[in-house]
Amino acid sequence: MAGMRLLGTSGIWHEPEEGSVSRSTPGPEQIATQWARIRGRLQQDVGDVEYRTWLKQMTLAGIDGEEVTVLLPSRFLRDWVRSHYGEKITRLWQLENPAIRRVDIRVGHGRTGLAESLAETPVPEPVSVIPPSVAAAAPAADRSGARTTVRNGQDERGGLLDPRFTFDSFVVGKPNEFAYACARRVAEIPSSAGFNPLFLYGGVGLGKTHLMHAIGLELGRRTAPPINVMYMSAETFMYKFIAAIRAQSTLEFKDQLRSVDVLMIDDLQFLVGKDNTQEEFFHTFNALVDAGKQIVVSADTSPSEISGLGDRLRTRLGCGMVADLHATTFELRISILEAKATRAGAAVPAKVMEFLAHRITSNVRELEGALNRLIAHANLFNRPVTFETTQEVLHDVLKAHDKRVTIDEIQKRVAEHYHMRLGDMTSARRARSVARPRQVAMFLAKQLTSRSLPEIGKKFGNRDHTTVMHAVSRVNELMETDSQFAEDVELLRKLLESQ
Ligand code: ADP
Ligand code: MG
Repeated sequence: MAGMRLLGTSGIWHEPEEGSVSRSTPGPEQIATQWARIRGRLQQDVGDVEYRTWLKQMTLAGIDGEEVTVLLPSRFLRDWVRSHYGEKITRLWQLENPAIRRVDIRVGHGRTGLAESLAETPVPEPVSVIPPSVAAAAPAADRSGARTTVRNGQDERGGLLDPRFTFDSFVVGKPNEFAYACARRVAEIPSSAGFNPLFLYGGVGLGKTHLMHAIGLELGRRTAPPINVMYMSAETFMYKFIAAIRAQSTLEFKDQLRSVDVLMIDDLQFLVGKDNTQEEFFHTFNALVDAGKQIVVSADTSPSEISGLGDRLRTRLGCGMVADLHATTFELRISILEAKATRAGAAVPAKVMEFLAHRITSNVRELEGALNRLIAHANLFNRPVTFETTQEVLHDVLKAHDKRVTIDEIQKRVAEHYHMRLGDMTSARRARSVARPRQVAMFLAKQLTSRSLPEIGKKFGNRDHTTVMHAVSRVNELMETDSQFAEDVELLRKLLESQ
C-alpha cells in the first residue's frame, strides 16, 4: 500500500510519498465528495433496505492513484459486497475519477473520525453543471439526491444496462402482464405501428426500469444489423443537455441523440417544470419518431396525469402505447419470491414466503432485499431458512413495515373516502355501497396492521374471520380486474402509511 493516502486516526490525510501519486489525484475534500456521491447513488440504485443491510457500514480507507480501498467490518460482509456490488462500486468510482482502476474491498474498521464523517457527508449538489437560472428553477430535492452528475461530458447512467434485468428474470402476473407484453413486442419489432412511443408507468419499485433494461439487453443481442440503443434517466438527459449548452456543443448532443435507433428515457417525471430540457426532449422525440425510430419512456404516472408537462409533449407521449404496472398482488409477490429463491438456489419454506408477501407490500425492491438478507443469513450460519429465523433476521425491516396504523384509523379514512357513515363499518348492513368499502377497510387492516383475521373481524362488528378472509381475496380479485378500484385502494394505503 505504498503511497496510499491513508486516513489517519487524527482525521488528517497522511501526505503520500513523493512521486507516488499523480498530479491529478484529487484532494481529500474532493474524494469525500465523490465518495458521498457514490454512496448516494448506491443507495438510490439498490433501495433503502438493501443499502442498510449490506452497504451502510462501508468506510473509505483511502485512495492510491488507481486503487481505492473500502473497508467492511466482517469477512461475510466483505465477501457479499465484493461479489454483489464490487463491479458496481468500481464502475461508480471510475465515473467519478477515470484514473481509478480497482476497488479493493477488505475487512477492517474505519475508526477514524474523518472516515466516519465522510460516510455521513451530505451529498453535494452538482451545481457546477447547472446554470444559475436552471438551478433556481429546479426543486431542491432534485438536486440533492446526487442521482447523476456530468463529468468530462460523460454521464454515469447513459448506456449502462444491468445484465440482471432481463425478460427472463421478470416475473409476470396480472398486474404487469400488459406492460411486459408491450415491452417484449418493442424488443422484437422496434418502431412497429401502435407501439411507438411505448409509455410505461407505475409506482416505485414495480419494474419499470427492469423492463426498459430488458428491452435494451434484448436488442443489444442483435448483431445483424446492430441496433443502436440509448438508455438514460430523464435527469441524466437534463444534465447532459445543460452540460452541452455550457460547452457550446448542443449540436453534437443533438446529433448523438438523433443517431440512435431506440431511445429510452427513464423517470420522465423529472422533467416536470424544466421547460428548456422538455423542449429539447420534445424536438428529439419528434425527430426520432419521424425518422421511424423507437422511443420508450417511463414515468410514475400516466401521460395525462403528469402535471407540468407541456401539452404538446403530453399528447405525443400518449399517441403510441400506454401501459401501466399496477401495484403487486399477493400472488405476484409470492411468484416473485419463488422465482428469486429458485434463482439463488435457496430453499425457502412456503410459510416464510407467504409471511413476507403479506408483510412487505410496498414494492418489489424491498421484497427482494428482505429475501436476499434471509438467504445470506442462512448461508452464513449454515442454517435453513425458517419462520423463526425470518422474524429474527428481518426484525428491523418488519418493524419499519409495521406501520402502526390502527384499525380505527383505517375505518375512519376509508369511510371518509367512500362517503359512508363510520357506524356502517361495524353495522350489519349489506348494501353494496357499504359492504364494498367495509371489505376494503378489512383488506387494508390485514395489510397494514399485524392483527390476526379473528381480531380484525371482531373490530368490524364481531364478524367471523372467514368474512375477513373473503374480503381480502375479493379485494385482491377486484384490484386485478378493475384498475380504477386498484388505484383507489392504493391511494388509501399510501395515505394511511404516510400519516
Ligand atoms: P421501478 O423502475 O419501477 O422503480 P425497478 O425496475 O427498479 O422498479 O424494480 C425494482 C427491483 O424489483 C429490481 O431489482 C427489479 O429487478 C425487481 N422487480 C420488479 N418487478 C419485478 C418482477 N415482476 N419480477 C422480478 N423482479 C422484479
Ligand atoms: Mg426505475
